[in-house]
Amino acid sequence: MVEDRYRVVIRCLRCGEKYILRGRLNEKGEYGTGFKKCICGNDHHLYVEGSPE
Ligand SMILES: [Zn+2]
Repeated sequence: MVEDRYRVVIRCLRCGEKYILRGRLNEKGEYGTGFKKCICGNDHHLYVEGSPE
């Protein structure tokens, strides 16, 4: 089975901070990156975009 690795861009919709991480799609169709929250404390108003590596 091939591991699907993604380059995941997470942008905070509150302060505009941008994070570029690596992750993989989980069974729920979400990108698992280990990202917890933004430096501003925001943890759910996020724009997430993934593209295959
Ligand atoms: Zn933020």
